[in-house]
Amino acid sequence: ETELENTAAAKQYVQEVYETVKRRNPNESEFHQAVKEIVDSLVPVFAKHPKYMKAGILERIVEPERVLSFRVPWVDDQGKVHVNRGFRVQFNSAIGPYKGGLRFHPSVNASIIKFLGFEQIFKNSLTGQQIGGGKGGSDFDPKGRSDNEIMRFTQSFMTELYKYIGPDEDVPAGDIGVGAREIGFMFGQYKRIRGGHQAGVLTGKSVIYGGSLARTEATGFGTVYFVHEMLQSIGWSFAESTVVVSGSGNVSIYAIQKAQQLGAKVVACSDSNGYIHDPNGINVDTVKRLKEVERKRISEYVLEHPGATYHEGCLGIWTIPCDIALPCATQNEIDINSAKILVANGVKAIGEGANMPSTLEAIDLFLESGVLFGPAKAANAGGVAVSALEMSQNSMRYSWAFHEVDDKLHEIMKNIYRNSIDAAEEYGCSGNLVAGANIAGFLRVADAMMLQGIV
Ligand code: GLU
Repeated sequence: ETELENTAAAKQYVQEVYETVKRRNPNESEFHQAVKEIVDSLVPVFAKHPKYMKAGILERIVEPERVLSFRVPWVDDQGKVHVNRGFRVQFNSAIGPYKGGLRFHPSVNASIIKFLGFEQIFKNSLTGQQIGGGKGGSDFDPKGRSDNEIMRFTQSFMTELYKYIGPDEDVPAGDIGVGAREIGFMFGQYKRIRGGHQAGVLTGKSVIYGGSLARTEATGFGTVYFVHEMLQSIGWSFAESTVVVSGSGNVSIYAIQKAQQLGAKVVACSDSNGYIHDPNGINVDTVKRLKEVERKRISEYVLEHPGATYHEGCLGIWTIPCDIALPCATQNEIDINSAKILVANGVKAIGEGANMPSTLEAIDLFLESGVLFGPAKAANAGGVAVSALEMSQNSMRYSWAFHEVDDKLHEIMKNIYRNSIDAAEEYGCSGNLVAGANIAGFLRVADAMMLQGIV
């Protein structure tokens, strides 16, 4: 009976906090979505441990410690002045310095940055390392911009951001639209302003000046390592699978590469304009060259591989029958309709390489249908996990070999899987990795907050 009462109280508590989030952050649907997913998972935690309610942990965790928004003026190659908006949300520092990427994409706004920063808290906690949650970026659109324009924009961005970051304060990295090139320009500007070679202020650096081997591969590899653990639970493997991977950026490319190494047949990938279907198996070297070196559209792939077809629009990629789907493009790329098609086509596992790629309705359908579902916080944590390893190497002034970092990454992904499965089991939602990852990620942050007083 007390258990029932506690559950009712916990439900009311999370509902009240969720309503407050909606009231305080109007029109921020992505942020609301990320909060909703978390709070629903946490009901059994608050029911079992009312101490977290008493300490106001949830009220505090949904409110960013700090939100920064700033002007980023820059001049294009024709001499025209542009103004973009820069953001950094420093969400939670209970277990370590704020850590999280920077996204440069026209869709960036306060809602997007808050949802990403909020998820980062729990993801970073799941890695078992000492990193808090943060995120930043700008609505700047890098598409079609020259190297010089990218440099001027990123320098202007850093000219404001430098005030708020540091190796022990806040450590940005890449995300959509921010890779080694942008990190390099930002590092150069930070060094000019602050002085000294503070390698640990940014991660995702080039290996030449303090980056970690395997950081580039880490998110994609990690997602495949995680899905491998999920598949083992049903006695299935990549080797007997047809795989669809959306996106063609850093996450996607290395997810394709690792899935292929494990013997999978990867038949499709995409960019924001459309997708390619190559029934013979995607040639990942072509994708890598087109996207990373030549910075071209994925449609160009079919010119080199006549067996492949190109299709306009992104949603169609989920109509291709597959055993494993790895959404590695962007938020809400799998809606309920795409989820229905995937399920009808017999998909066995979903591994989220992107952040929040499935809508709440899509997730519910996957869970109800018995599809193995690896949520983003757990499945794509490999990137930030290796970022933390990069910070460790920078502090040591030492570099590990590729296989050393890769082995640590593999171990971390296995631990995340185990901890999420165990947490789900303990809190009565056996096999539900969404609940398990949310609970396991939350507990570490909540316990650290309990120990640090009301701050
Ligand atoms: N942007 C990545 C993520 O979503 C990596 C962040 C980092 O390495 O700090 O987790």
